[in-house]
Amino acid sequence: MRLDHWIGGRAHPPATGGYLDNHDPKSGDLLGQLAAGGAADVDAAVAAAEAAPVLPVAERADLLEAWAAAAEARIDEIAAAEAADSGKLESAARHGDIPRAIANLRFYASAVRTDATACHGTEDGINYTLRQPLGTVATITPWNFPAHLFTWKAAPALAMGNAVIAKPSEMTPTSATLLAQCFSEAGAPAGLLNVVHGLGNEAGEALIRHPQVKAVSFTGGTATGRHIAAAAAGALKKVSLELGGKNPSVVFADCDFDAMITGVARAAFFNAGQVCLCGSRIIVEESLHERLAEALVAATADWRPGHQSGSLISCAHRDKVESYVALARDEGGAILCGGQRSGPDGGAFYQPTVITGLAIDSRTAQEEIFGPVVSLHPFADGDVEQALALANGVDYGLSASLWTRDLGRAHRVAARLEAGMVWINNWNTRDLRAPFGGMKQSGVGREGGRYSMEFFSQDRNVWVQL
Ligand code: NAD
Repeated sequence: MRLDHWIGGRAHPPATGGYLDNHDPKSGDLLGQLAAGGAADVDAAVAAAEAAPVLPVAERADLLEAWAAAAEARIDEIAAAEAADSGKLESAARHGDIPRAIANLRFYASAVRTDATACHGTEDGINYTLRQPLGTVATITPWNFPAHLFTWKAAPALAMGNAVIAKPSEMTPTSATLLAQCFSEAGAPAGLLNVVHGLGNEAGEALIRHPQVKAVSFTGGTATGRHIAAAAAGALKKVSLELGGKNPSVVFADCDFDAMITGVARAAFFNAGQVCLCGSRIIVEESLHERLAEALVAATADWRPGHQSGSLISCAHRDKVESYVALARDEGGAILCGGQRSGPDGGAFYQPTVITGLAIDSRTAQEEIFGPVVSLHPFADGDVEQALALANGVDYGLSASLWTRDLGRAHRVAARLEAGMVWINNWNTRDLRAPFGGMKQSGVGREGGRYSMEFFSQDRNVWVQL
C-alpha cells in the first residue's frame, strides 16, 4: 500500500516522488510505503489550509460529530491499520485506542458548543472578550498512541476554527490518513485538515519553520521538543510541548496490596512500556520491597508475546531497550525477571523486566527507556521525605502514581510530587476535561479540555465606552 499526503481533501503524491518504507514491528514484514514529505508538500498543505473557510461554531461542532460517526463506520479498518503500524494488539487498538480517538472528537464538539468568554463591566465601560482562531496550525505526534494523539490535537484545533496540518510519526502513518479521509467523508471543506507524511527532520522541520504556521502542538521526545521550542522561538510561535517521562509509582506499606500490584504492573508494562506516563520507577517502602518484587515478577510470569501486550515499535527500539538492560547490569542492578527478547524472529518483542539494586542516580534509573523495564527503589519505613527525594530526583516531571490507604498522607504527598499528573491508588485514568502536561523536562503548557481550546485560539478584548 502506498500512502500519499492528504492535502486539500484528497490524496496528494509527494513533490519529490520519494517514498519511505513502513514495516510491521510484529514480524519485520514490509507493510507498504508512505510519502517522504518535504518543504514543497508543506507549502501545498499551507496553501490548502489558508484557503479553507472558518466555519461558524455550531457547524464546527456538527462536523466533529459527523467525523466521529464516519470514523466509527470504519473503526475495524482503522484499528487493524493502527495495530499493524505500531505493533499493538488489534484488540487494544479496536477497544482502546480508536474509541478513545473518536471520544476526543465528540468531547470537543460539545466543549465548543458550551464555550463562553468573559465580560468585565465597569462604571463607564464594558470589556468583552472575543475568542478567535489562530489560522493555520501544526500538530506533530509520536508513534505510541498515533490515532488518539492525532485527534487529541486536531479536534480542539478545529473546534476553535483553525485549519490543521498534521505530521504523524513516520513509524505509524496510516491511522492519520484514514481519519483524515473520514473527515472528508463527513462533509468537511477541503483544506481544513491536512496530513503531511515524512521524516521529522524533513517534513516536520519544514512545517515548524513555515512562516504561515502560527502554532505548533508537539508530543514526542524531550530532545525533539527542545529543538522545536528553539525553532519556534525565532518566529515567536506559540508552542505546546508534551514530552518524555521517568515516572514514579510511590508505594507505601499500608496500601491495598492486590490493587497496587495490578496498578504498578499495568503502569510498568502497558503498551510494552511505551507510554509517556508509564511508571518506570517503583519507589517502595522498605518493609514491602521483597513482597512487591516477588508479586510483580509473578504477575509477569505468564506474559506471552502477542497476548498480554504487543511488540515494541521496531527492532531498533528493541535494541535500545536491550542496551539499557545491559547498562543496568553494569550499573550493579539485579535482573529479577525478563531481560531477554521474546517472540518470533524478526518481531520486536521484549520480556517484561524487573530490576532492583540500582542507585537512584544511575543512568538506568534516570533516563527514559520507553520499554517494558521497571526498577525498584526502596525507602526507609515511614520516611516520606526520602520517598519524595527519590520520586522527584529526576529531570522529568510528567506523572506519578501513589499507593496508600492513609488519605491525609496521600494528599500531602500528591501536592509535593514534581509531576503534572498524580494518580492516588490508580494509574492512567483520564478525564478529558482535566489538564494534561508535564513539569521540568517533561514539557511546557497543558492540554486537555479548556487548556487545548485556549492554546488553539487567541482572545481579543474589546472595550465599549458607555
Ligand atoms: P520523537 O520526538 O522522535 O518524534 C515525535 C514526532 O516528532 C514524530 O512525528 C517525528 O517525525 C517528529 N520530529 C522529529 N524531529 C523533528 C523535527 N526536527 N522537527 C519537527 N518534527 C520532528 O518521539 P517518538 O520517538 O516518536 O515518541 C516517543 C517519545 O514521545 C517519548 O519520549 C515519549 O515519552 C514521548 N511522548 C510524550 C507524550 C506526552 O503526552 N507527554 C505522549 C506520548 C509520547
